[in-house]
Amino acid sequence: MTATRTSDILSAEASNLIQRFTPPTLSIMKRFTFHLAAVLIAVAAFIAVTLLDARTSRGQSQSSVTTSDGGAANARVKPTASVRAKATEAAIESTTFGPAATRNGLLRSELNWTFGGKQQRGWQLYTALISRLISTEHDADSADFASALAGWQERVGLSPSGVLDQDSLYSMISQWQGARLKDRTYPLPDQLVTAATSDFYHPTRPDELRQVERETYAAYRRMVAAAAIDPSLGLARDADGQLAPAEKYLKIISAFRSREYQQQLRRQSPHVGRAGLAINSPHFTGRSLDLYVGGEPVETKDSNRAVQVQTPVYQWLISNAERFGFRPYFYEPWHWEYVK
Ligand SMILES: [Zn+2]
Repeated sequence: MTATRTSDILSAEASNLIQRFTPPTLSIMKRFTFHLAAVLIAVAAFIAVTLLDARTSRGQSQSSVTTSDGGAANARVKPTASVRAKATEAAIESTTFGPAATRNGLLRSELNWTFGGKQQRGWQLYTALISRLISTEHDADSADFASALAGWQERVGLSPSGVLDQDSLYSMISQWQGARLKDRTYPLPDQLVTAATSDFYHPTRPDELRQVERETYAAYRRMVAAAAIDPSLGLARDADGQLAPAEKYLKIISAFRSREYQQQLRRQSPHVGRAGLAINSPHFTGRSLDLYVGGEPVETKDSNRAVQVQTPVYQWLISNAERFGFRPYFYEPWHWEYVK
């Protein structure tokens, strides 16, 4: 093996260092030094791979809890070689998505985008929705999140960069918006029921403003009953185990709004803009409910929505509402639509 050949293997810097400290006359010593350096590098590489292996197999068993296909359980009984191969793959992945993770850490509060004619900044308000969409429970600035995002990007035909940029966010928004209520027919009077005052955030709300489409109301009652018995939410219950009248969370703020009432709302606040008060509001259908999820009930300011998206009740809705037929409107944490 010649010195040139060895320097192909060693980094240029390492070989320069060795040459600098090796007297040119001692060619045997020089050769020995090269061999020693090569052996040391090989040992260091072996230790690094072993450490990465150990680290990622821990990560592997952690992420396995979140997979729903039982892949993790299988991994545990697979032969060691296969587990090691998978762990090495994960190690490479974590190295690959490191820069994307750093980028996401910035973009979640800084990405510029527009919605409803308004300039928006960052996507951190939508982290719960995004995490559900890309099936990850890892932090938005982690390599695992970037990796899960890349998988989603690939599935929807975007470049799998793992970076949540404008293209990815707009694509997510169109998925969320596409899952919303499509039927915008005005309900017939017999399709509406008047909900109990105790279901409302403002129990003094008059009868005509407590109307809900019949099936939507039944689904709402089922969903709220499930939330009430979920100990992780700690909601106040009455003697029957139902959501207590005094509990504010998940109470209906607004349901069916007639065209006349909607026009009246717009006259009262003409400068709210499109994102604030939709021209063709899904509240016409009686299948949209504004539910109390914390903070100011229906205030779109980022600071208020930041409070709302952190509440256990909102997070519960993100994970559970779909089981009861409800889909979110991503921009308003309180607005849910019954799509069956
Ligand atoms: Zn609404």
